[in-house]
Amino acid sequence: MMAIPFDHLVPAYINNFDAYIPSKPDPELKEMYGCSTLYRLNNNENPLGPPQASREILRRFPPERAAVYPSGDSYYLRQKLAEVYGLHPDQFLVGNGANEVISFVIYAFCEAGDNIITADKTFAVYEWVAVFSGYEARLVPLKDFAFDDEAMLEQIDRRSKILFICNPNNPTGTYWNKEKLCGFLDRVDGRQIVVVDEAYCEFVEKDDFPDGIALLERYPNLVVFRTFSKMFGLAGLRIGYLVGSLDVVNIIRKTCVVYSVNTLAQEAAILAIDDKDHIMRTRQLVAAEKAFLEKELGKLGLSFVINEGNFVMVKLPISDSLAYRKLMAQGVMVRTMTGFRFPNYIRITIARHEAMESFIEGLKKIL
Ligand SMILES: *Cc1c(COP(=O)(O)O)cnc(C)c1O
Repeated sequence: MMAIPFDHLVPAYINNFDAYIPSKPDPELKEMYGCSTLYRLNNNENPLGPPQASREILRRFPPERAAVYPSGDSYYLRQKLAEVYGLHPDQFLVGNGANEVISFVIYAFCEAGDNIITADKTFAVYEWVAVFSGYEARLVPLKDFAFDDEAMLEQIDRRSKILFICNPNNPTGTYWNKEKLCGFLDRVDGRQIVVVDEAYCEFVEKDDFPDGIALLERYPNLVVFRTFSKMFGLAGLRIGYLVGSLDVVNIIRKTCVVYSVNTLAQEAAILAIDDKDHIMRTRQLVAAEKAFLEKELGKLGLSFVINEGNFVMVKLPISDSLAYRKLMAQGVMVRTMTGFRFPNYIRITIARHEAMESFIEGLKKIL
């Protein structure tokens, strides 16, 4: 084996871990694949962008303020969130995207020998942070495309610290209803931390979908994640948060890196929260384009997974990486699903009609 420089300094769990390679910027990709337009359907962003009030504050931001550190703990945003949800501001911890708060929770509760439990086919960052921090990630197979509550409970042992539930699940869109989530929390009975990642909750139309924040009083071991990246169209500013009981959040606070959330993100987020109209318009677009995709994919005879959220999964008769390259040449970027352990599947963000049409046209050409 070839000697790797600095190998002797690196823990085995880092050596065995592959770095995540993000996609290149649009101009680079357009040149690489020879396409003149590019629809990014890989990251579940909101095609309508940020709400009006957030746009205004971004436009009017005084450049001098770039020289000044932001509020270290997103003071006014936490006040706003507390008011909206009827909780104490200290029950919220704001991060550089919900991605960052995942590590806060894992660092706060795990030590060598501990494990976390989640699904095998879900948002991968829970698993990644656990593994590259040296902890075991127990991955429970999905059952009928959904988190398997029984099988997750069976995986719990003395060293289990956190259970991560993605509700609704990225990438399958399945969700636990209120009865199922409460049943699960009752059986965990406060012995572990249960994180419910609600990154897509604002897209869910179903009445039996549980609002995790409303359950915090009943379950003090519950931690809920929310983000401004998806429905609120602020992905580029990187802002998300966790909310939980004061007892639990006071522990997590110790591992929370302050000043990681910039001023613009905090101020745009405060103004995004109240825009109900933006949520309504986004939901309408998602519903209409989901129906369009469902119809067109059916015509193509492809099997697909359409549930809650602003994304769908499609099964292809060719490899997902080949489909990715061929669709890129047509100006459409999709998410390959092999990394999510769904080989031959792609995930597509629901976007404006012209993007959805390009995707369907692209599919027809490559299949
Ligand atoms: C997008 C996403 C997040 C986090 O997004 P941030 O941009 O880091 O706030 C968290 N969980 C799931 C399931 C997501 O899809």
